[in-house]
Amino acid sequence: MTATILVVEDEPAIQEMIALNLKQAGYAVLCAGHAAQATQITNDALPDLVLLDWMLPDMSGIEFAKKLRRETRTKNIPIIMLTARTQESDKITGLDAGADDYITKPFSPRELMARIKAVLRRRLPEITDEIIAIGGLRLDPVSYRVYAQLEHVPEKTVELVLGPTEFRLLHFLMVYKERVHTRTQLLDRVWGDHVFIEDRTVDVHIRRLRKILESVGKENLVQTVRGAGYRFSIKKQEENADL
Ligand code: CA
Repeated sequence: MTATILVVEDEPAIQEMIALNLKQAGYAVLCAGHAAQATQITNDALPDLVLLDWMLPDMSGIEFAKKLRRETRTKNIPIIMLTARTQESDKITGLDAGADDYITKPFSPRELMARIKAVLRRRLPEITDEIIAIGGLRLDPVSYRVYAQLEHVPEKTVELVLGPTEFRLLHFLMVYKERVHTRTQLLDRVWGDHVFIEDRTVDVHIRRLRKILESVGKENLVQTVRGAGYRFSIKKQEENADL
């Protein structure tokens, strides 16, 4: 899956250099020159990671990081601070504000990419390309394929044909298995943009996903938790649950 990275940097040359490197590495890139613009962008769609310059014209990067951490919708976005400062106390201030990592300018594109990769792997495992196998399903994010073991003939597998949204949804649920996600969380993390989409959209795609899983007798892996949301679980759901 392609991760979207928001670059908040007021120096055009540096912003451009970073954006170019990120695009070459296969990331989708959004750019903002100041905090207000960055806020506008995050209101529209949540990025998967924010590269945040410390010194911005309208608000310091530290203040902006705190603002992201304060709001429910943005509080979990991974943040990497960029700064020319090198003092240890500044580094601590950045991490105190909720930054996941810290890069001191000047940095090499290679170092930047390595840090981004490490933070994404730690914070957003659904972004990685690793094959994931649970409950007789095997999902490959690189080839975009899902295989299912047949319930009564486990040595046989069939490929499931999923739409792009169902694929992302299943991937996300499998990565965070046994956890319940609200519709809003799913819209933010799977759709990436919840502004123009209704919560009911999630139900529609869950239904489609279950229907596909039903063809191999695995619809019970995607469970409805009444009043809370959805989860992927290999444990049997209680009798009176709302399926
Ligand atoms: Ca700056």
